[in-house]
Amino acid sequence: MQGKFVFLGTGSSPGVPVIACECGVCQSSSPYNKRLRSAGLVQVGSKNILIDVGPDFRAQALNFKIKHLNAVLLTHAHADHISGMDDLRAYYSLEKKKVLCFLSQDTFNEVKMRYRYLFEPPQPGKSFSAQIDFQLLPEDFGNLEFEGVSIEYFSYVQQDMKVTGFRFGNLAYVSDIREYTEKLIDAIQGVDILILSALRNVPTKMHFSIEEAIAFSKRVGAKKTYLTHTGHDLEYAATNALLPPDVRMSYDGLELDIQLD
Ligand SMILES: [Zn+2]
Ligand SMILES: [Zn+2]
Repeated sequence: MQGKFVFLGTGSSPGVPVIACECGVCQSSSPYNKRLRSAGLVQVGSKNILIDVGPDFRAQALNFKIKHLNAVLLTHAHADHISGMDDLRAYYSLEKKKVLCFLSQDTFNEVKMRYRYLFEPPQPGKSFSAQIDFQLLPEDFGNLEFEGVSIEYFSYVQQDMKVTGFRFGNLAYVSDIREYTEKLIDAIQGVDILILSALRNVPTKMHFSIEEAIAFSKRVGAKKTYLTHTGHDLEYAATNALLPPDVRMSYDGLELDIQLD
């Protein structure tokens, strides 16, 4: 089964350009230096599976003409990955069906605390929030069968928050990673396409540096790695020129063909 992965956004938490920043990357006219907050879309046949619903979700849904959603996968509950969730109500209005959302227990607890109103049913005659059917991922590592699409999921840690990554056939999506176990390496060993976060040239408490991302990619033995969640220190062409040939910067709108089992 063939599918497609679309980068809806490839930027760090403030996005690129950063508000009011006058650095060369933020002032650049290159479309490769304009990054919405990180998110992805997996398309298999007519099915659309969204990864993360950050503050740029509305723009992404419009830019990429996302006319329907079959499921949403959340990596974790930091604002740059969930704060567009209320815009999912557009799909409830269209389809009169709650949007299916897969997430870890930790992410669920955070979402519930931050967005209490998303858990209230619509009141007749009143405006309503997004209606979401939250489905908990039962383990740290597991497999999810969704309408004939097999999705593996795995866990790692960013500071004190658990993060979930996903694998669709020959592509693995690993964003916002800082600490991980050998089990993660095993889960994605030898994957053809690795989508991996890296924030800057230097490591931070929350993110891999470019160098750490390259080392991680080597450990995994990924054939090709695309860096996402990149900050405004990283100019697209200049960074790409320094990367090994099998590691590339991604950009908003980049599409990859994927092979599902
Ligand atoms: Zn993030
Ligand atoms: Zn800047």
